[in-house]
Amino acid sequence: MSRKKIIAGNWKMYKSQSEAIALTAAIAEGISHQPPTAEVWIAPPFLYVAKLISQFGNSGLAFGAQDCSAHDEGAYTGEISASMLHSLHARFVLVGHSERRAYHQETDIQIALKIDAALRNGITAVYCCGETLDERNTGRHFDIVRAQVSEALFHLPALAFEKIVIAYEPVWAIGTGVTASPEQAQEMHAFIRSLIEQQFDTALAAQLSILYGGSVKPNNAATLFAQPDIDGALVGGASLVASDFLSIIAAG
Ligand code: PEP
Repeated sequence: MSRKKIIAGNWKMYKSQSEAIALTAAIAEGISHQPPTAEVWIAPPFLYVAKLISQFGNSGLAFGAQDCSAHDEGAYTGEISASMLHSLHARFVLVGHSERRAYHQETDIQIALKIDAALRNGITAVYCCGETLDERNTGRHFDIVRAQVSEALFHLPALAFEKIVIAYEPVWAIGTGVTASPEQAQEMHAFIRSLIEQQFDTALAAQLSILYGGSVKPNNAATLFAQPDIDGALVGGASLVASDFLSIIAAG
């Protein structure tokens, strides 16, 4: 396992198929001119994962999904399993995004089962955690993130962390245009790394990639990435515009 810098785009429920292909082509073209120091990951809507992997799988981009089922197969109408994603050669899956927690009532226990499903199928789980504004304003942000990290990850064996990435995404910064300050983000990233260190060991914590997510834009990416415990970003809105995403990649 090695600590990697990763810039990941979460496209959420945006783009038609032709727009998705055009956006990926523009990103692939951009990184071919300016090879990034960070790995560049893209999580399009499920529908486009296979197509984009077959068309752009050799262009230096890694593709994944925005969610997966906790089950490998079964009568679960509308669900997509990690084993299906594995069969498409998807590399990663976002798990526990705050929009899944808020709109689909996902709990840390369910999220832990999704992480298990991803790992069982050889897919990296990008575990998203982060506090709401109310939780931060009432001084509970560290307790909330500690509970999220422990409930979703502490049951894993140390070896599993080869395929775990954590994305700290304060809910109040997602899609709002309000970014955590570099100091706020660094403070929480260092806290998360210390939780992993206490539960597992120093070497494992030092190797873990912890991404920041929440209104990362071309004009704030570099100062965030300059923080010692910030290993890249999970980018929503700005990953939908090739020039913005490429600027963020260049800052990585
Ligand atoms: C996200 O959806 O994970 C995210 C960070 O979105 P945005 O960059 O738009 O805040």
